[in-house]
Amino acid sequence: MSFESLGLAPALLRALAEQGYAEPTPVQAASIPLVLAGHDLLAAAQTGTGKTAAFALPLLHKLVDAGPTMTRRPRALVLTPTRELAAQILDNAQVYGKYLRVSATTIFGGVGMGPQINALRRGVDIVIATPGRLLDHMQQRTLDLSGVETLVLDEADRMLDMGFLPALKRILGAVPKQRQTLLFSATFAPEIKALAMQFMREPREVTV
Ligand code: AMP
Repeated sequence: MSFESLGLAPALLRALAEQGYAEPTPVQAASIPLVLAGHDLLAAAQTGTGKTAAFALPLLHKLVDAGPTMTRRPRALVLTPTRELAAQILDNAQVYGKYLRVSATTIFGGVGMGPQINALRRGVDIVIATPGRLLDHMQQRTLDLSGVETLVLDEADRMLDMGFLPALKRILGAVPKQRQTLLFSATFAPEIKALAMQFMREPREVTV
């Protein structure tokens, strides 16, 4: 199995080669083709399995495929429990997207709203956010979610453990119904399954 055979854009393959990634990890090999084919995805994967690239690579590929727009309406939204994870995902997306013209920004609490509002105004393709601060932006109407084509729930079990379920439900209700949803969780606890049942369309399951 190679990254080439997964059908990823040459610009992504070049960045991966530079990173020294020889081949996809199991969660990447299983997930990437499903995401590229447009399916919703329910993936059980722990940190360290390469799960970030499992969603970031096809996400970037799809944004390039359709031509990056950098409008004020982000086309992809990644929700993650902590600011550290948000920063890490941004980091990875920038490494993989080095040869693409796709922009990404983080939205998390504990820092001022101002710089985040400015970044959103300048236009961004991918927003990587923690749920609480994202809600703040929604309430202040500083973020337009009507253009979201792909929604990623990263470490969904941890988000639920942290009490983000009400926030997640509000966000899931605000993104377009016509979208692709990818959910990553360490386990498929009943609450995760319930969330998937309510907000995903015939998700394919990947367990590694
Ligand atoms: P994650 O599970 O997303 O936290 O990733 C764990 C680590 O594996 C990160 O440091 C990635 O840079 C690295 N990684 C992800 N995919 C690959 C791959 N296919 N080959 C080598 N390293 C990888």
